[in-house]
Amino acid sequence: MTSLADLTTMRVGGEPTRLVEAATTDELVELAREVTADGDDWFVLGGGSNTLAADEGFDGTVLRVATRGVERLDDVDGRVRLRVAAGEPWEDLVAHTVDQGWSGFEALSGIPGSTGASPIQNIGAYGQEVAQTLVSVDFLDAETGEFVRVPAANLGLGYRTSVFKRGRRGVVTAVEFALVDDGGTSAQVSYPQLATALGVGLGDRVPVADVRASVLALRASKGMVLDPADADATSCGSFFTNPIVPRQVAAALPSAAPRWPVDPEPEARVVPLGDAPAPPPPPSSGLVKLSAAWLIEQAGIGRGFRLPGSGAAISSKHTLALTNRGSATAADVAELARFVQQRVSAEFGVVLHPEPVLLGLSL
Ligand SMILES: Cc1cc2nc3c(=O)[nH]c(=O)nc-3n(C[C@H](O)[C@H](O)[C@H](O)COP(=O)(O)OP(=O)(O)OC[C@H]3O[C@@H](n4cnc5c(N)ncnc54)[C@H](O)[C@@H]3O)c2cc1C
Repeated sequence: MTSLADLTTMRVGGEPTRLVEAATTDELVELAREVTADGDDWFVLGGGSNTLAADEGFDGTVLRVATRGVERLDDVDGRVRLRVAAGEPWEDLVAHTVDQGWSGFEALSGIPGSTGASPIQNIGAYGQEVAQTLVSVDFLDAETGEFVRVPAANLGLGYRTSVFKRGRRGVVTAVEFALVDDGGTSAQVSYPQLATALGVGLGDRVPVADVRASVLALRASKGMVLDPADADATSCGSFFTNPIVPRQVAAALPSAAPRWPVDPEPEARVVPLGDAPAPPPPPSSGLVKLSAAWLIEQAGIGRGFRLPGSGAAISSKHTLALTNRGSATAADVAELARFVQQRVSAEFGVVLHPEPVLLGLSL
């Protein structure tokens, strides 16, 4: 029997009671209807790159999404619209769009997992996030049993979150995006480290292929691309989100603590299509985003840190990634995560929240 360790990039987790796989969208729709209605517990799994599964396994059905397909729809306002099957590997989709010279995904190169999962936590990296290009998702709502096309504006997309992460249950079967065709030119480079790597200024535009190459190189240097030869890549990527705290909490931290103002209205960042009016600029939120990596390091937990006897360790390249050094159990990973949370909380009074979805365990 296949265990969740075989299906997730952290490579921990026991067996599910039942595993079913959908290879076509018709199968996915049928299985989604079945598993969400039969009364047993269920879990949808894409690439397993943001799931930490319990050693005890899962008492229910795991529905694995292995559908493929990228359909080009009619352009609107000069934007290239794509409807993509939920199981399409995200990285293949990004490579395809960059090859076409379309802009919108180039900074999201190298993120593992499925396209259907991309709206779940509004994936983001190097100054881009899926909310900037997402138009809608096709979704079987488990509560109503209805199939709906939900516009991006109704998905509550924010920093590494959406209505799905906050409890709306169902199955995404396809995702629609709108990309920009600007003759192979990227979106404005908005991430300082990326601008430095490209040798350009913030706000500059460069060929999309250059952004993709730079992002892939930066990610590889941090163990943030899947690579069986790199022990630091057996992970869920960043294990903690950057904490968002009231301005007063941030003000009490040492002056060296990195901090960024937070946009209050994530929906305002959604791309308007057709006649939709441009969103107004968001007002100030009074919230500040902190660097989880900085807090962890300053709490005395460095790269490579490992608890005695544990098979899990902080990545040797990136403080935010918890990694399986080959023999880790989910319990090892959870113990390390709790230790990190406790140290940061004791040192700075800030609570770190896990980014991956925890299946059958809690911190
Ligand atoms: C090395 C590495 C680097 C990473 N870097 C980044 C990064 O830079 N930025 C970033 O945002 N993330 C990053 N991640 C996290 C992860 O890759 C993304 O969150 C990705 O979108 C998860 O996709 P998945 O298909 O693997 O999701 P899974 O782990 O399979 O599922 C994650 C969640 O989505 C739900 N889900 C999956 N598919 C569907 C569906 N079709 N319908 C409904 N629910 C669904 C699952 O039920 C679960 O709750 C990284 C991970 C790794 C391992």
